[in-house]
Parts: sequence; structure tokens; C-alpha cells
Amino acid sequence: MISKAPAPGADTSGDPYLPAHGNGGYRVRHYELNLDYKVGPNRLSASAVLTAEATQALSRVSLDFGEFRINRVLVDGKPAKYLKRGAKLHVRPAKSIASGAVFLIEVHYVGNPRPVRSRWGDVGWDELTDGALVASQPVGAPSWFPCNDHPADKASYRVTLTTASSYLVAITGNLVERVIGGSTTRWVFERPEPTATYLMSVQLGRYDELELTGRGWFPHTGVGTRRFTLGFGRGHVDSVLQTVPQRAAVPPRLRRAFERDFGRQGRMIEMLQRLFGPYPFDEYVIVVTDDDLDDPIEAQGMAIFGANHVDGRRTYERLVVHELAHQWFGNSLTVADWRHIWLNEGFATYAEWLWSEESGGQPASALARSWHTRIKAKPADVRIADPGVARMFDERVYKRGGLTLHALRAEIGDPAFFALLKAWTGDHRHGLVTTEQFVAMAEAYAARSLDAFFERWLWTPALPPLPGA
Ligand SMILES: [Zn+2]
Repeated sequence: MISKAPAPGADTSGDPYLPAHGNGGYRVRHYELNLDYKVGPNRLSASAVLTAEATQALSRVSLDFGEFRINRVLVDGKPAKYLKRGAKLHVRPAKSIASGAVFLIEVHYVGNPRPVRSRWGDVGWDELTDGALVASQPVGAPSWFPCNDHPADKASYRVTLTTASSYLVAITGNLVERVIGGSTTRWVFERPEPTATYLMSVQLGRYDELELTGRGWFPHTGVGTRRFTLGFGRGHVDSVLQTVPQRAAVPPRLRRAFERDFGRQGRMIEMLQRLFGPYPFDEYVIVVTDDDLDDPIEAQGMAIFGANHVDGRRTYERLVVHELAHQWFGNSLTVADWRHIWLNEGFATYAEWLWSEESGGQPASALARSWHTRIKAKPADVRIADPGVARMFDERVYKRGGLTLHALRAEIGDPAFFALLKAWTGDHRHGLVTTEQFVAMAEAYAARSLDAFFERWLWTPALPPLPGA
């Protein structure tokens, strides 16, 4: 067991908002997770093998990890000493790891996974009435696997899960194997793209599996098969759009309502690809739980909705496009640290407004005016480029983020604005992003300094007037 206090930096990512999540001294390249899960008793028996690279010489390694009984820890195949203290697992290999070396950490563990309590509520692995879900943003990942829990340490994954055959399993990744062995089924998913820990998800339930085509989900309805004309983004229309396979896991009782509520998702994918560039993953999976959820949540190549978000009347269609937009903004382009959260939520909000206009609802300009009026009535005490940890998910970060983009569009004009969005998603595809990088790229596309503009819109709490209003 380790008795010495951790060296400075070893147990912290240095994240200005969530320094206790993430650890220094190494980066994870790949996670191999083997999970055996029993739904009734909520029992997880698992192993995790992390392939990591030392960024400095290491006599020990810290991981973020929840409350499990740890049976064994190996480093490069050899038993290692370890100490579980609070939310950290400290591992001391038999032999120090040289800077630059690639090494394997293997953790065998068992327990009843439960969510991480946070200021944003319970996040991570949670039981459903009959199944389980994982929704980890921002700090829930250690509730089910040992990890370097920081968005900047993106890695690839292979996840194997064995559970009762009566459950449908969806895990963020491409399904590569499904082996039915009598009463249990083994599911294997691979996630080759760099993925943040908070975007890994496991979904288990008694769901119907729907295979959906890329263009129109339900050809018999004719939805999504007709061509339509974009009213904006002139000059940025791709002639070839990627067909994105879409699947869904839906409770049988909600299937009909789901088909209507998500019936235009194929068109949304078309629009977003035209505006933001190619869809970043091989497929898109929707999970609707049989339980209600507070909010839908994005995962890598996936989004999870509650039963309460499906009513057969498209009441929550803006959330369908919002979660879809996160595949570009948040999932492919991931915040380098949480201060930059508006780069996720402002863009997803603006995608809602663009879809509204595209689908014959209110134009983006009308939604911008309406939200400008509403935000103006609220206290002006949030800097959206650095809202503070307590306000990361404040509505004002979302709506002012959308307003900032709308104002930028007015400031630099549609051709530069939409070219910028595509360059932004293209240049940083599967990478990390900061507000400073976005400002620099916007200035390059505007071919002039936008200092004063961004100072008003990103760094000043007072809400500036909306251009053209
Ligand atoms: Zn969002």
C-alpha cells in the first residue's frame, strides 16, 4: 500500500473548474473494458485494461474511480500495489515507468455501480426501472470504469458486455459482435475515434431495435426522402452527402410516437452535414428509455432521450437536433477544458434555430430576437467564455452562445460565417478546442480583427444589442 502523499500534479488535471477530475503524468490511448452485468441485483464484475503513455517518469499513476471492490491491479502484466482513497485509485508499479513509455494498467473490480453525486445531480451509471443507463457529463465516467476523467484525454475504446439475453444493449461504438449464448448475450462494441470519458455510455433495456436508413427512416411514410432547398449557407452546399446509418433502441409502447417525433432526423443530418461538414462517426444511435429523464444527453455517436421526450407530436424536436449537433460540437470537437463549454452548447442551440428555419418554423433571426429579449430580462452576470463551474450548464451559456453565433453571422456575413463553421469542424475534427482558437479562426475568415466584437459577446456579462434588431 502507498503511504506517501501524491506528488504535486499527479492527482490533478489542472482543470480550472474540475481540478479533482483527471490526473497528470500520462495520457490514455485506449481502454479495453470487459463488463459482466446483472440487471436485477445491479451487479457489475469487470476488468479494464488501459493502454497509456507516460508524459514524464512515473513511480506511480493515479486514476479516477468510483466505489468498487478491487480484486487485482497489474501494470504491464505484473501485480502492482494500489490504494483506493476517495475518488482516486493510486497505483504503484513494481518498477518505475520511463518518460515516453507505453504501459498497460489492468484493474479487476466488482460492485454495485451507482452514479456520482455532483452539483449537477447524479451522473454516470444509473439503474432504470428495468435496465441501466450511463449519462456522465461532466464527471460520471468513474462510476463504471477506472479512467483519466478529463475531456482533453480522449482515447479509443473496445467494450465487451455480457448480460441477460432479454435486454438490448447499446454502447457508444460500432457493434462488432453479438454472441447469444443461451441465457446471456455477449455484446462487443468498438469506438475507434478519440472519445472523451464523459461521452462513453452503456444503455440496457427491454427495447425494440429499429434499423433506420440514412436518408429517410421510414420509407413507407415518405418522410425524409424528398429533396429540399437550403435557405442559407449559400455557396457551401456539398454535392455528395454521407449516408449515415441510424439505429434506435425504443420501448415497444413508444415506437409509434417515436417514429413521428424522430421522423425528420434524416433531414436534420442532411442539413447539418451541409452546414457543418461530414457527420463525424460511422453511425448514429438513439436510445429512448422507458423511464423519464430530466434532459436528453449526448454520447459519442449516440443520444439518450427519456420517455417524457417522446409524445408523437414533435414537441421536443428542437432537442432532437440539439443532441445531433453535439456530434460535431462536443463530441468530435471536444472542449480542452470546461471553461469552453459554450463551444458545445452555443453551437447546439444555434443548430436548433437553423433547423427551425429549415423545417418551416420560426426563422433563426426571429428566435434570436426572442431569446435576446428573454436573456435581457435576466441578471447580466455570466461571462459565457468563462462562466464558472457553477454556471457551466446555465441557460444563459446556451442561449447567449447561440446569440453570439447569430451576431457573428451578421458581423461577417453568411459566406464567411458558414465557411468558418465548416473549417472549424474540419480542422479540429476529433480534436480539442478552445475559445481562443475559435476567435482566431473567425478573424481569419473575417480578414480583420474581431477583438471588440468578441469582447462584447464573449467576455462582457452585459448583453450587447442584437445587430439589425
Ligand atoms: Zn447540449
